[in-house]
Amino acid sequence: MNQIIIKNSIQCKHCGDIIESTHLHNYKTCSCGSVSVDGGHCYLRRCFKNSPEDFTELSITRILKKR
Ligand SMILES: [Zn+2]
Repeated sequence: MNQIIIKNSIQCKHCGDIIESTHLHNYKTCSCGSVSVDGGHCYLRRCFKNSPEDFTELSITRILKKR
């Protein structure tokens, strides 16, 4: 199964920033520095300082089924 990424984005629960990685190697960090996204539409990469509870997932993905 292939997953395609339509939107690679999260919202930081601490500062409320919504950050989106729009292309590969487009590394974005929120203004308080707690969470980051990377990978654009190629892969979903999340970095966080404390725990994955620090952000809300806002990404949109679709699964492509092989015939
Ligand atoms: Zn933040």
